[in-house]
Amino acid sequence: MLPLLVDTHCHFDPEDHAKELLREAAEVQVGVLAVGGNATNNHTAATSGAPFACGYDWSCVGVAPALEALPGMIAVGELGFDFHRGYSPEIESDQRTRFAVQAGFAREQQLPVIIHTREADAVTESALQEAALPKTGVIHSFTGDVAFARRLLDLGYYISFSGIVTFRNADMLRETAKFVPEDCILVETDSPYLAPVPLRGRRNRPAYVRETAAFLAALRGVTLETFAEQTRANTKALFGAVSQWGP
Ligand SMILES: [Zn+2]
Repeated sequence: MLPLLVDTHCHFDPEDHAKELLREAAEVQVGVLAVGGNATNNHTAATSGAPFACGYDWSCVGVAPALEALPGMIAVGELGFDFHRGYSPEIESDQRTRFAVQAGFAREQQLPVIIHTREADAVTESALQEAALPKTGVIHSFTGDVAFARRLLDLGYYISFSGIVTFRNADMLRETAKFVPEDCILVETDSPYLAPVPLRGRRNRPAYVRETAAFLAALRGVTLETFAEQTRANTKALFGAVSQWGP
């Protein structure tokens, strides 16, 4: 019997058959948290049938629309900071404004947040510090070093790893994945992107989280059963009990 795993971060595009992908995932004992990040993905997440998060990510330039609490919504996200395509004080201030609006909503609704951060370590850290959210959340598809992970853990955040940790050039990230304590680690696909080795290049899907989980378990020197138990317990501690995620 396969251990139950939760893919804590996947997106559905409108052309994806979310219900089919969820069924396929359930067949290999994978539960799902569907995540938004823009108007389209918020809609597909909210109508997928899985527990979901809605939010407005770094790409929604100039937009800070009000979020609405919907039944089945268990988190706010993704939101956060990304300066990969360039940095300017205006870009930072736009992203900070959008972050503050959504962090305020998360606080009001007492929901955890799902944070995206890329080439934005210092800004992300200072924004999380300022927000001082009582519920905290997860830094998803983490790509940072041990020092950054340690600072985020100190702020009370969980760290989630995607298929990037299986990529050949990810030695620094593997060091981080070995470092994160067992009660703070989560696993995800970030599908449809970032399919893990040996499936790299395919369109990613929630069922593939098993590959990344098996990789992380081996890296950390535990069995897949143990890793699944640890990450499922963490998922429930952060996002609450969800019947699809097992007892
Ligand atoms: Zn994402």
